[in-house]
Amino acid sequence: MRQIQVKLPDGSVRQVAAGTAPAELLDTTGAVAALVDGEPWDLHRGIDRDATVEPLPAASEQGRVVLRHSAAHVLAQAVTDLYPGAKYAIGPPVEDGFYYDFDVPEPFTTEDLGRIEGRMLEIVAEGQPFRREELSREEGLRLFADQPYKREIIESVDEAEGAGLRLPGGARGPVSVYRNDGWVDLCRGPHVPTTREIPAFRLMRVAGAYWRGDESRPQLQRIYGTAWESEAALADYLHRLEEAERRDHRRLGLELDLFHFPSEIGGGLPVFHPKGGLIRKLMEDYSKAEHERGGYSFVWTPHLAKSTLFETSGHLGWYAESMYPPMEMEGARYYLKPMNCPFHILVYRSRGRSYRELPMRLFEFGTVYRFERSGVIHGLTRVRGITQDDAHIFCTREQLGEELASLLAFVLRLLRTFGLEEFEAELATRPDKFVGNPEEWDQAEAALRDAIEAAGLPYVVAEGEGAFYAPKIDVHVRDAIGRRWQLSTLQVDFQLPHRFELEYTGADNARHQPFMIHRALFGSIERFFGILLEHYAGALPPWLAPVQVQLVPIADRHLAYATEVADRLREAGLRPEIDDSSGRMQAKVRDAQLAKVPYILVLGDRDQAAGAVSVRLLDGSERRGLGLDAFVEHVTAEVAAKATAASLPAEVEAGTP
Ligand SMILES: [Zn+2]
Ligand SMILES: [Zn+2]
Repeated sequence: MRQIQVKLPDGSVRQVAAGTAPAELLDTTGAVAALVDGEPWDLHRGIDRDATVEPLPAASEQGRVVLRHSAAHVLAQAVTDLYPGAKYAIGPPVEDGFYYDFDVPEPFTTEDLGRIEGRMLEIVAEGQPFRREELSREEGLRLFADQPYKREIIESVDEAEGAGLRLPGGARGPVSVYRNDGWVDLCRGPHVPTTREIPAFRLMRVAGAYWRGDESRPQLQRIYGTAWESEAALADYLHRLEEAERRDHRRLGLELDLFHFPSEIGGGLPVFHPKGGLIRKLMEDYSKAEHERGGYSFVWTPHLAKSTLFETSGHLGWYAESMYPPMEMEGARYYLKPMNCPFHILVYRSRGRSYRELPMRLFEFGTVYRFERSGVIHGLTRVRGITQDDAHIFCTREQLGEELASLLAFVLRLLRTFGLEEFEAELATRPDKFVGNPEEWDQAEAALRDAIEAAGLPYVVAEGEGAFYAPKIDVHVRDAIGRRWQLSTLQVDFQLPHRFELEYTGADNARHQPFMIHRALFGSIERFFGILLEHYAGALPPWLAPVQVQLVPIADRHLAYATEVADRLREAGLRPEIDDSSGRMQAKVRDAQLAKVPYILVLGDRDQAAGAVSVRLLDGSERRGLGLDAFVEHVTAEVAAKATAASLPAEVEAGTP
């Protein structure tokens, strides 16, 4: 019998008979499959070559893929059991779950999903083994005689879907199928050993989907589900979903009256309401003050420009797909700007520049317009009009390193001020096709790397993934529920200074080309706004809250006192609001909590008599009879410090009511 050599996780190498399966070689506790030379493989499928063999745990990214795909089979099996004649199309794993597409006469209802889930539980309890078989193409076509979608896959020889593995020499190999019980699916595998190894799953929803995503093909019913290695992991996931739903900025935007997307304007184009506009102003005020301190000059540039500008910049060549169609005016074609860079360059180029003026840092809240397909626009996080906190820095070669280091420090300071604390950087380096000279790329990449290291940021290098004209740093943050967002970008451009023939006169009196850095810290105000709302679940810190203090007089006779308190707060530069509606006190407090006002003051007889206030925070903590002066001083200090959450002042001395 032919022998093969297998290398096991403990480093040992064994001689075994060809056809030995991983299950015979490994401790399979907690494993859903094996990795054979790194490739997922059934635990019971024989190995026919020398290979490294290790277990693939369920609790891993790849392990969950196997688990979820196996759950998709069970889903299709349950559907064909319950709806005889149902045609099943494809059922791949997707992020956090799986789906399966079915051709059925009637769309599935929520009750249907319940029934299907019930049938799946029975199949799981039966512990049906998944068995792999390989068939010839003709046998495959015969086996799936009643399943037109499977036949189509076999006929189109889609290797990824188990149809006709390519053989050396180009011949078409066998079709692989997996059976459990009487049910069979065309599939490349691998699968869990038996259905019992799907410990936790849930069907989530149903949606229409065209076969092959093609609107001219039949519309199918797509059932989405999720599957996990344990009930606890499933519960965690469902909790995360609930949290994400609770924090959805589109919902919060409506509930808190911050912004909306009028259909009269068009998708991806929001209007900000007074409260949203105020938050936006506070973000911008802070950013402007920081840029002023950082030695930036403020410029302003228009939203349209003639095609010639974008021809020179090259945008009409490599960025045209993201630009809106042109407008014809007086014989010229005008475009909405997709980026601010060419405009800032014209400011730089408006006269001769000397090395004494560098670094020149030009800043603008510039609104750019990019075509996003209606299928991908999403609330504020993916819009068609993007306001960037955009700057372009022109500097000498010698200044590059220091500029980048101070820029990255600026980025982190800004993000921390907004309560984001967990960062990761990604350094994208020179791709195979690039413009500029390699030696300058090396210098820029080294300067970017030094900046990341000086900032003490964890980072990964995306080798060769820079744009053709620039290496860059992307800063990613994690929000309060662990989601990762890409926000800030720093980029060193090797194309535009050349295309626009930028220069400055050096100390040597000769002409030189400046280095150019693009950078945006928020990235886009709209997107950052959306992320911030989700990060804080709408409960913005006191300095950003549109209403900072909600005053709730207990009865009408406390209204005059409430007005007095509100005036005091306003004088101190704070944003109070009195609820003088006729509702009950508890209802008003509840409303203020729903509006996520950080400090809620309930004012009654005792407070009025003592010149005091009773404070409640959103986390439920409260303090009664706090002196008004002490309260004003405390809130003013928290706002000035840009505290990331409201707090109560430290305990006052004993004896105070
Ligand atoms: Zn499969
Ligand atoms: Zn730019």
